[in-house]
Amino acid sequence: MASVARVDLDGNAIKGMTICMIGAGGFIGSHLCEKLMAETPHKVLAVDVYSDKLKHLLEPAGASSLPWANRIQFHRINIKNDSRLEGLIKMADLVINLAAICTPADYNTRPLDTIYSNFIDALPVVKYCSENNKRLIHFSTCEVYGKTIGSFLPKDSPLRQDPAYFVLSEDASPCIFGSIEKQRWSYACAKQLIERLIYAEGAENGLEFTIVRPFNWIGPRMDFIPGIDGPSEGVPRVLACFSNNLLRREPLKLVDGGESQRTFIYIKDAIEAVLLMIENPARANGHIFNVGNPNNEVTVRQLAEMMTEVYSKVSGEPSLEAPTVDVSSKEFYGEGYDDSDKRIPDMTIINRQLGWNPKTSLWDLLESTLTYQHRTYAEAVKQAISKPLAS
Ligand code: UDP
Repeated sequence: MASVARVDLDGNAIKGMTICMIGAGGFIGSHLCEKLMAETPHKVLAVDVYSDKLKHLLEPAGASSLPWANRIQFHRINIKNDSRLEGLIKMADLVINLAAICTPADYNTRPLDTIYSNFIDALPVVKYCSENNKRLIHFSTCEVYGKTIGSFLPKDSPLRQDPAYFVLSEDASPCIFGSIEKQRWSYACAKQLIERLIYAEGAENGLEFTIVRPFNWIGPRMDFIPGIDGPSEGVPRVLACFSNNLLRREPLKLVDGGESQRTFIYIKDAIEAVLLMIENPARANGHIFNVGNPNNEVTVRQLAEMMTEVYSKVSGEPSLEAPTVDVSSKEFYGEGYDDSDKRIPDMTIINRQLGWNPKTSLWDLLESTLTYQHRTYAEAVKQAISKPLAS
C-alpha cells in the first residue's frame, strides 16, 4: 500500500514512535489506541489491569488478521506494584498517563483510593520519565479549577454574566476548592498536586511534559451500565447514569435540581486534539491544555431533557410522562459531595499552539452515543429486568 507521508503542523515528516500508554484500557485510552492504530504508524505498549474496551483492537477473529496486529501490545500490569513498568517506559519515546480513579461517586466515598490513584501512583511514572528523559503527556482534569469566581457573587449580580468571572483559563484562573470535609475535592487536589510536581520537574530537571485538562469528554464506551458491565450499585458519570435510566425506562435523577452547568465534548473531537499533541512536541511541550467544547454548554437538567428526546428518537420508544426526578446530593452521592458550578474552557492556548477546534454539536454527539448505547445494551437490560430477583 502506497502511503502518503504524514507531516506535522510545521510541515516536517512525522516519524513513527513507540508510546507507552498507561491506563490504555479505559474510555479515553481505548479511543486513543483506536485512532493511533487506524491513522498512524505508531506503536503502542498498552498498560492496564483491564482490556475489555480494547478487545476489538487486540483480539481479531483468526488472530493477527488486523492490519495493526504487530503495533499494539497489551501488558496486564497494575502500576501500583509492578517492576516491569520502568522497563516499558525505557522502551518508549513517549509516555501517556491516563491511569486514574475519575468518577465523582468515588471522590467522597473512597477518598484514600482517589488520592492514592491520582497522586501517589502517578509519582513513579513522573520519576521514571524524568530520570530516563522521556516525554510525558499526563492527563489531569478541568476539575483542578474547582468552582468559578462568579459562584461566590450574589445570585443577582450582573458580574455573573461577565466571562472574566467564569471562563477557565490555564495560565490565569485560580483553583478554588471547598473545605476539607467536602471530600469531593480530594480528586481535584490530588490532580493539582501532580500537575505542580510535573511542572516543577519541567522547571528544575528539564522534563518534557504536556498536561491535558479534559472538560467532560463523552461518547461510546464511557464508564459502565450498572448491573450489565459494571457493579449494580456502582454510580458512573452522568452520561452513563442517564443512559442507564433511559435503558431501564426510569426517570433521570437530577442531583440538587440539575442546575450545575457543564460543557460536553465528543470523545472523537477530543482525541484529535491529543493526536496533535503527540505529533507536535515542539508546540505541545511545557503547556497545559484545556480540551473541551465551549459551544456545548447546558445545565444538567437540559442535558437530561435532550438525552430523553434523542433516546426516544434512536430507540423508537416514547419517553416517560415524568422523565426526570429530583434527588439531593446527600441521597445520591452521600456525605462530603460538593459540585463544580460551571465549566467553560478558555481555548486561547490550544488554538494558538495547535490550531485545534472542536466540531461536534451536543445533539449530534448524543445521537451517535445513544445509538451506540441502545445497540450495545438494550437487549441485555431487557433480559436483566425480566429475570426474577434471586431470593
Ligand atoms: N448528575 C446528576 N444525575 C446523575 C449523575 C450526575 O444530576 O445521575 C450531575 C452531577 O451532580 C454533576 C453533573 O451531573 O453536577 C456531572 O456529573 P459527572 O458525574 O458526569 O461528573 P463531573 O462533571 O461532576 O466531573
